[in-house]
Amino acid sequence: MQYQRSSQLFIEAQKVIPGGVNSPVRAFKGVGGTPIFVKSAKGAYLYDEDNNRLIDYINSWGPMILGHAHQPVIDAITDIAKQGTSFGMPTELETKIAALAIEMVPNIDKIRFVNSGTEACMSAIRLARGFTKKDKIIKFAGCYHGHSDSFLIQAGSGASTFGIPNSPGVTEGTAKDTLLANYNDLNNVEALIAANKNQIAAIIVEPVAGNMGCIPPKEGFLKGLQLLCNAHEILLIFDEVMTGFRLAKGGVQELYNIKADIVCFGKVIGGGLPVGAFAAREEIMNHLAPLGPVYQAGTLSGNPLAMAAGLAMLTELNSDQAIYKRLDEKTAYLEKGIQEVLDQNNVIHTINRVGSMISVHFDANPVVDFESAKRGDNELFKKFFHGLLNEGIYIAPSAYETWFITDALTYEDLDSTIKAVANVTRFWS
Ligand SMILES: *Cc1c(COP(=O)(O)O)cnc(C)c1O
Repeated sequence: MQYQRSSQLFIEAQKVIPGGVNSPVRAFKGVGGTPIFVKSAKGAYLYDEDNNRLIDYINSWGPMILGHAHQPVIDAITDIAKQGTSFGMPTELETKIAALAIEMVPNIDKIRFVNSGTEACMSAIRLARGFTKKDKIIKFAGCYHGHSDSFLIQAGSGASTFGIPNSPGVTEGTAKDTLLANYNDLNNVEALIAANKNQIAAIIVEPVAGNMGCIPPKEGFLKGLQLLCNAHEILLIFDEVMTGFRLAKGGVQELYNIKADIVCFGKVIGGGLPVGAFAAREEIMNHLAPLGPVYQAGTLSGNPLAMAAGLAMLTELNSDQAIYKRLDEKTAYLEKGIQEVLDQNNVIHTINRVGSMISVHFDANPVVDFESAKRGDNELFKKFFHGLLNEGIYIAPSAYETWFITDALTYEDLDSTIKAVANVTRFWS
């Protein structure tokens, strides 16, 4: 495939945008090469500036669960745009999408809409601190909760020490309030709680991890977190920005029947427009301004275009009783197919999957946390990525990303993807 125009556009972009991109992973630093500039997308396919057609397994990093340019969503946006695009005043649409989200998701009474997943997680943490009157939070290595300061922390010397900021610009003062634990490791969490008695406001977790590849919670992990939180008056925050409205109508809370205290949303909830949200039971949400003292606001929050897109998306998902089963079946089919060809080609691998989230790790050991995710062979991943790209298959340009399966993918698309994986890995061993 040719990427001349993309290459040229990337050169132009780098002159005026840092690194040529508005979000770092897009720059292909993890895999090398030149990012692809998109012209349009429809259903399961992307069309780039060089007129290549790619089968898309990123889907805007999750939102396009029904495929690109899904007609009811596009219609909702275009209809509402004619009425004006922003008012900074309440609209009926906001109440409608809030009511629908609350109907679909268990254990939430009220929801506040923001403009991104980052904002949702940042605000959820502030709310948890305001509600519990405690300062510290526990997060898990390899979990991503957006780019606000409190979350840009990695393990310093061992997971039980205070976090060291892993981005310049995050102050030590901020970092010291973020404690790091290993995913799927309840003992680790328990030790952190014991060492920081009555100081922990919240534990935030991706209940199915998706930002170190897909990593399912071990049996009992989420339940264990819930019990620890209850015992120590800590709020449990499920960051369902990726999993919400994707793994089930009610997200992981529904899938595994576990209650969280605060839930964060993004991605699917906006139908492809910039939307995030956080939600909880009434007692917690009433701490937010204007009812309570915890401040949180946004000029464009609840924007009519964004709410219309989100409402159309959620309405579709809510009315299609078979959607999550269909997504699960398609992804299972893909998993089985890839598994078989990698086995045939003697490629060492581990595939993790939950519903329509799936990732291929080039390592033989189980991938259960950030440490094991890091053991994957990145050189092989780069070859895999570029090989698939050459076959017209677009997966995320990083070994730490989940593939997102959409309902627009046909079994024909999945078959050609499996065939491409076979071609790419044929001579690897
Ligand atoms: C994408 C993501 C975020 C951040 O959302 P943005 O809209 O990119 O700010 C937060 N948490 C999780 C789990 C995510 O996958």
